[in-house]
Amino acid sequence: MSQPNILLIYTGGTIGMIKDSETGALRAFDFDNLLIKIPELKLLDCTIDTVAFENPIDSSNMRPEYWVEIASIIEENYNRCDGFVVLHGSDTMSYSASALSFMLENLAKPVIFTGSQLPIGDLRTDAKENLITSIQIASLQKRGRPIVQEVCLYFEYKLYRGNRTTKINAEHFEAFSSLNYPDLAESGVHLKVNQEHLLIPSSKKSFKVHKVLNNNVAIIKLFPGMSKNVLESFFSISNLKGVILETYGAGNSTTEDWFIKLVKEAIKKGIHIINVTQCSGGSVIMGQYETSTALKSIGVISGKDITTEAAITKLMYLLGQKVSKKVFKTVFETSLRGELS
Ligand code: ASP
Repeated sequence: MSQPNILLIYTGGTIGMIKDSETGALRAFDFDNLLIKIPELKLLDCTIDTVAFENPIDSSNMRPEYWVEIASIIEENYNRCDGFVVLHGSDTMSYSASALSFMLENLAKPVIFTGSQLPIGDLRTDAKENLITSIQIASLQKRGRPIVQEVCLYFEYKLYRGNRTTKINAEHFEAFSSLNYPDLAESGVHLKVNQEHLLIPSSKKSFKVHKVLNNNVAIIKLFPGMSKNVLESFFSISNLKGVILETYGAGNSTTEDWFIKLVKEAIKKGIHIINVTQCSGGSVIMGQYETSTALKSIGVISGKDITTEAAITKLMYLLGQKVSKKVFKTVFETSLRGELS
């Protein structure tokens, strides 16, 4: 049987940097010579092709155009390759993994996002383990079919569902967390895949790539003392189509009249408002407390246990799909790619 063919897509970030031994400065790694620089990759049971962004970026410069570029590379190589590993800066990796999960409909092959806290050329780097294990996971097959068939994020010995992750630490090697969904795999002495948590796509539906995203959206994080003026200014942004409202606890907000009135008027104007909790774990349950009953009754959409990263990218995706006003709430509250429970 032929070896799986893995495509490595380098978008930028710390992982692709190497320390110049003479000057000590960090510079972008030449991915064409990847196999020479990391001989360990030759030991893997797969063939590896590489493609890099023409100008690799720090992921803080990530934008929807780059998501379209990643999606297009996957689309062009979908039939030829068995799995994809996307090398990406960690800062916005959860946003990108979430966006791609929505853009790649009926995905039946692994797309593994990974990166590192230290450059690949650093003595104490976490890049090699992250890269090597990501490629191994992308190569896993059973009876000629990939075992993982969704967009994931691999970091520091753990494989997560991409759209369930958040970057929680700028210092530790364990930089990501998935508080509302179990790990998909763990890398120890053995690679332990938690099969029961994997997405199983319908084999009858064909792969489809969506490239229209609407970024007329905003995230509003509530805080005690937020003034009417601030909220009013947000809702008067021209062409605003949707807002992720980051509320307290289980989806609670102030019950002051001006606040509820402004949210109600915004919804009437056609702006979709999604209630997502500021907590890293747990779920929005509108109506559980009196402080969320009004939000529920005026038509605020429940983000349930979705992350802010998945919520904002799902919003851009659904607006790009021109989902009608009538069904928008129902579609948003439904899990499309395992992003909410
Ligand atoms: N600032 C970098 C980036 O996100 C950090 C990293 O690569 O982890 O591109």
